[in-house]
Amino acid sequence: MKKSKLVICLIIFILSCASCATLKSITDVGPVVGSIESNVYHLPYCHYVNYILPGNIIEFANTDSAKAHGYRPCLVCLKRYLK
Ligand SMILES: [Zn+2]
Repeated sequence: MKKSKLVICLIIFILSCASCATLKSITDVGPVVGSIESNVYHLPYCHYVNYILPGNIIEFANTDSAKAHGYRPCLVCLKRYLK
């Protein structure tokens, strides 16, 4: 009983790592959002986005576009993509 639970956990762990590996770089994350009052961009579901006033939200098609506008990645939601 205990061993089978361990095996299931191990499989879930391996699968979750495999899905992480498919996102090879920060440029693959898709659209990102930032605030016109800061220079940080986030994934759309980052909890910090909730603190941005709706009128201050700026959307970028990708991280390259955000960088071109002088924005840097959020160290919370994009941490795992940074090296
Ligand atoms: Zn963030």
